[in-house]
Amino acid sequence: MQSELSLKEYISTPMQAIESSDFAKLDLKVWIKRDDLNHAAIQGNKWHKLKLNLLKAIENNHSPLITFGGAYSNHIAATACAGKKLGIETLGFIRGEELASQPEKWSPTLINAHINGMRFEFLSREAYRNKTTSEFLSQIENMFPNAYIIPEGGSNALAIEGLKPLAEEIQQQCPGWTHLFLPVGTGGTIAGITKYLNPDNHQRIIGVPTALDYRYLEKGINQYLDEQQQHAWEFLPSYFPIRYGSITKEIETYQEYFEKRYQIPLDPIYTARMIAEFYAYLQQEQFPTGSKIILLHTGGIQGNGQRKNTCQ
Ligand SMILES: *Cc1c(COP(=O)(O)O)cnc(C)c1O
Repeated sequence: MQSELSLKEYISTPMQAIESSDFAKLDLKVWIKRDDLNHAAIQGNKWHKLKLNLLKAIENNHSPLITFGGAYSNHIAATACAGKKLGIETLGFIRGEELASQPEKWSPTLINAHINGMRFEFLSREAYRNKTTSEFLSQIENMFPNAYIIPEGGSNALAIEGLKPLAEEIQQQCPGWTHLFLPVGTGGTIAGITKYLNPDNHQRIIGVPTALDYRYLEKGINQYLDEQQQHAWEFLPSYFPIRYGSITKEIETYQEYFEKRYQIPLDPIYTARMIAEFYAYLQQEQFPTGSKIILLHTGGIQGNGQRKNTCQ
């Protein structure tokens, strides 16, 4: 059967200029890379991170796809949709055992993943924390000897490699860029983007953390990078230090302003956070004049719950 989903094609997305007299006054150019437009449901960075993993799973006839996430995980949504389109069973290990008996409490993300055929195993928070231990993984492998296991957030070596075409397109669309901002969850995306954009001494990649505790991610990110690349990226010290998944009035205000002015949808967890942090940074710090700044829209719009059953 011909699959509905072409994993070999790169889906090109626009590099959209963000015009503002404030930027012009400071002699700054700002763009947003609209990677949210690559696929409605397997969106943004999740598409790039899944692609090569899916190809490998198909090549080796693996089934089911097994992965991990919280109730609002864009990666869970993306995996469920990809499985449906490719005709591969999917199983999600979901944080929060209380959800097992209370489907009325499921998020739009879980409802859509369920509609797309994903089966769930709900784990207690403690069991979820242990999901990367070899005991837990070998238990899963015993139960599902033919499974293809993808880590939380989809971040593994093939995911990093999957970001190469995106980095190449960014480089081609905006060759003289000086700063690139992107939101960071597990760190897979910043690792892949840094590796394949391979910044020179005048270019900085700035990761906006979305959790309070993020320093521990550095090692995992740097394992994919050579020494120069390791020095080319940094975490933005957060102006809005809040728990992963939460939002403040200020971030919401930035989100509403940006969405309305530029007609670009944002998600509350990642991209709104990046936009808010970028504006805060702009007010506190000075970009050198002539800076060319890219904001990477990593997607995540599926979680807003406005589009129903968007696995198309
Ligand atoms: C998952 C996600 C991220 C985080 O990506 P990592 O590779 O885990 O750092 C950023 N933005 C959006 C919209 C996401 O869904």
